[in-house]
Order: sequence, then C-alpha cells, then structure tokens
Amino acid sequence: MKFTQAGNFLLLAGLASSCLLPEERAGGSIRRPLNRRQGSNGKAIGKGDRFSAGALFPRGIGSGNATDLSTILSVAEVATGLQGLVKEYGITTFATPYKTYEGRTITGAKIGGSGTYHVYLNGAIHARERGSHDSVLYFISDLLYAQKHGTGLTYGKKTYTNADVIKALSTGIVVTPLSNPDGVNYDQTTNSCWRKNRNPKSSTGSASTIGVDLNRNFDFAWSLKKWAPSVASDVASTSPSSEVFQGTAAFSEPETQSIKYIFDTYPKIRWFIDLHSYTGDVLYSWGSDTDQSTQPYKNFLNSTYDSIRGITGDSVTTKYGEYISAADLSDVKTAGTRFGSAMSTAAGRAYTVMQSAFLYPTSGASDDYAFSRHIADSTKNKVYSYTVEFGFGNSASSCPFYPTDAQYTSNLQETNAGFIEFLLAAADIGLE
Ligand SMILES: [Zn+2]
Repeated sequence: MKFTQAGNFLLLAGLASSCLLPEERAGGSIRRPLNRRQGSNGKAIGKGDRFSAGALFPRGIGSGNATDLSTILSVAEVATGLQGLVKEYGITTFATPYKTYEGRTITGAKIGGSGTYHVYLNGAIHARERGSHDSVLYFISDLLYAQKHGTGLTYGKKTYTNADVIKALSTGIVVTPLSNPDGVNYDQTTNSCWRKNRNPKSSTGSASTIGVDLNRNFDFAWSLKKWAPSVASDVASTSPSSEVFQGTAAFSEPETQSIKYIFDTYPKIRWFIDLHSYTGDVLYSWGSDTDQSTQPYKNFLNSTYDSIRGITGDSVTTKYGEYISAADLSDVKTAGTRFGSAMSTAAGRAYTVMQSAFLYPTSGASDDYAFSRHIADSTKNKVYSYTVEFGFGNSASSCPFYPTDAQYTSNLQETNAGFIEFLLAAADIGLE
C-alpha cells in the first residue's frame, strides 16, 4: 500500500507513541498524566551486584549469555559491569568532567579501533526506557568476548561470524551505556515511569516539575523562536511540568554537556546512535522538518524560515524542508535500512525505517545536534545520526516502557543484531 507523504505522516502520528505516551502528547502541552495506570512493573530490577564489584564480567545474549539475565541491570551494576570488562579485557573507561545533580558520574568506554573512534553508541537518556543501558553494555561485552575467544555472535535468527566481529570492532567504538543515571536510578527505585533527569532548578514545588527532558536540551534549533507557532509547543516546552521541558538553555544539563564532550573529545566520530524505546523504529536525520536535497539555504541556521520550520505536511519546495545532500541522505538511509532489517530478522518483529520528523518534529534532540555540528561549524566532523526506538511496549504494565521478561530478551536480540549490522554498514560506507 502506498501513502502520500502527508498521509503517511498522519497515519504514523496516529499510531506512534515512541518515547512519549499518547496522553502525554495530547493537546500540545505534553504533561504527565495525573493518574498512573494499573498493572505490573514488568521485569524486575537487579538487587545486589551480579558482577561482584567488577570481579565478574558481563556476557551478553549473543555469546551464550553466561550472565544472569533474570533482572534488569541496576545503575550500580552498569558501573561494576564496566569494571568487570576492564579487568577481563583491559579496555579503557573514562568519566566525563560533569557531575549530575545528584553527584553521579557519566562513564564511557572505548573498544576496538586503532586509537581512533568512529562510532558512538549512547544509552538510557530517557530514564524509563528500560533495557537501553543493558543493550549497550551487553553488546560491547559480546564483541569483546567473541574477539578474545575467536567466536561469532548469534542474536535470535541473526548470526555473525568472528570476521564480522573483528570488522565491527575495527571501527573504533565509544559508548556511554547510561547517560541519565539520576533519572534511571529514580525510575528504578520508584517505578514512576520517569523520563527526565532530576535537576530541580526550575521546579515550582510539585514532583512533576522536577527534571529536564535531556533529548530537548541539545543545541539544535533549541529556541522555540526557530519554529512555526503552530508546532512550537510540540517540539519542546518551556514549562517545567512538561515531559518535554527543554531546560533553561541549550546544554544547561551535565548529561547533555557530557555527550557534547564526547563528540568534542573524539572528533573522528562519524556515526551515532541514541538508543530509545519504544515502537520499533529506526529514525534517521532530520527530526526538524521534511528532508530536501535541492535548496541548501533552507536549513536550521537560516532565520528567514523560522516562522514555518517544523510543519512537515507542507511543500518543501515553496515552504520549508531541512537540507541534507542527496549523498548524505542515501548513506543514512542505507545504514539505517541495514540496522532495521537486522532488528526485524532477529526476533521476527517488523521495524520501520523512516525520517525522524515523520514521528513528530523535535527541537534540541541528540541526533539532530550530532548531524548539525558540521553545518554549524565546518571544522567539525560530519556525524550520521539515528534515534532507534527498540521494542513495542508492554500494555499490561503500569508504564508501557517497562518490558516483560520475554520482551526484554527480544529487545536485546534486536538492538544487538542492529548494532553489529550498523557497525558493518558504517565500515562499508566509510568511517572518514
Ligand atoms: Zn526516549
């Protein structure tokens, strides 16, 4: 069945709730519902430390999952799991120079490559999207295990050889499995379906006014003056009670500063994934307006188009579309399609590959920031960027972002198959 572009957008907007619940998007205000749903809290969170303070190392689902996967990794276990990888494989970890509001560190790890890092995988920027940091940590654990033991990796119906593993690692990978540790800790300890960080700077007293939506806080068309009045209240919010509260300034938050720090510190990064849930989508640039490849002057820097930016159903020729060259669009689609195809095959659930803006236009998102860096500053590297929304939701849960045991396993298979396919695609298309 074929849809027109505008028709396709309307259809998808009607079905999709990725990252935001339908009721959180209703009416343009994007506020939290006052009443929690009834239901379970899905798969339990780990208690104790399955990695014994780093004496044991994680092993993911692709290499025979020697790790106990009966619970979701706690915040503490992400740290001890990374310590276990350092001990077992001698990898390098690092802390970004910014502490979160509650004093936590954002830890990264570097694997593969030859001293140069071309791919960046980020997890758990939205706290409630459970399984995100697990996916990133177990994936690098699998690559390292397979490299050391000369094996391949199997994710559901997708199998990769040891040669694939070596090729994937050759790209040089930086990861931050847990980019919102305060939010994740809060969500895991309260089962509150919490999305934002825990910065109370703008709070007006009530619980829901705490926190910033980190994925509206990046320096990409952050000001709502850059957007058509009809969409400005949807792309982000200036209200602290909103689930998409953008913060007090672009990069006002230590978590987003940390991600910028990684792009600045590893300037050869060429490919970026921000891992979210849910709705089974691989989303490529742009997230601001419909892509077009014929009018370079129509771009996020050009204030001439501020009053009409973000209306995806209008003509890109006579109105506005976000510029991406035909060659770049081809590359991001090619790698995104391979990513989505591997995810679809792994567990037999169909993923959709499409432009981010067709889900809903956003300001200040990580993927748009990453790809915009080279346009805003020609000394910066071009970074092909994606938002991946794994999984399909848990309708029986108090929070549909909390997976069941079976969903958690399928999600791991899909994200990890997608990741390795993506690394292979990046290596094929180009790292420089
Ligand atoms: Zn999200």
